[in-house]
Amino acid sequence: MEQTIYTIYSLFMFVTGTLFGSFFTLATYRIPRKQDITHTRSYCPNCKHKLGFFDCFPILSYVSTIGRCKYCKQKISIRYPLIELANGFVFMFMFMIFGFSIETLVLLICYVYLFLVIGSDIMEKNMTEEEREEVKRIVEGKKIKKESQTKSKKKGAISVEVLVASVIFVFFFITAIYMTSNYSKTLALYKREVDATGILLNVMNEEKEKDFSNLVYRSDSVTIDNVTYNYVVNITNKLKDSNQELANVRNINVTVTYSLLGENHSVTLDSLKVVPDYEV
Ligand SMILES: [Zn+2]
Repeated sequence: MEQTIYTIYSLFMFVTGTLFGSFFTLATYRIPRKQDITHTRSYCPNCKHKLGFFDCFPILSYVSTIGRCKYCKQKISIRYPLIELANGFVFMFMFMIFGFSIETLVLLICYVYLFLVIGSDIMEKNMTEEEREEVKRIVEGKKIKKESQTKSKKKGAISVEVLVASVIFVFFFITAIYMTSNYSKTLALYKREVDATGILLNVMNEEKEKDFSNLVYRSDSVTIDNVTYNYVVNITNKLKDSNQELANVRNINVTVTYSLLGENHSVTLDSLKVVPDYEV
């Protein structure tokens, strides 16, 4: 069960990584070109056709169209699925190493930031002269626009990548909170188990210290931090394979039971004691 959940989380992290990879390719292309990265949808750089919801699935969309644009059949660079795949692995490995933790979150935020900065820088160097001129015109145009316009911001559709990444992020955040509450429950359970084991060993030692090990069945209880631990001591004769009793060997069994959050738990221990001949 535990293993299944772990695998599901790893896969979720992989998918989140590929979505971020997809966002990275879009963002590092657009940032140096001074284009909006959050409010306009992905489009084919060749025919400028806007991509639909299903065209934005990382890797799968590339595989399904055999690496070509669905609309103009232009070849798409292998760079796109490779970046998506690589980021899938980066996100998954971060989870596998650090689990759901602040470290993972901080590392991923730094990673995303660095990827965008370095990626944009590399992509800027790959821009053609015409594109640079175009950017200059856009920057100039925006300045003029800002001066003439007051407050009429256009609200386009939020890019699919950002939307899906946000949904997954919220999902992970809620899961992390849930796991934390589960963790404190586990911690309480461990504390009880430690206390119960302590009682178990104490009682067992007391029984073994006793001079006479008569056959006995007794029960008692101990209370620690408002939790009652019931214990049972059961001393029997040790049986041989042929069900024959070994008169001078005793089997001491101690079982401690306690309940936590409506569930019953127990720890048990068996030990042998040889009774000197003169006591038998
Ligand atoms: Zn196209």
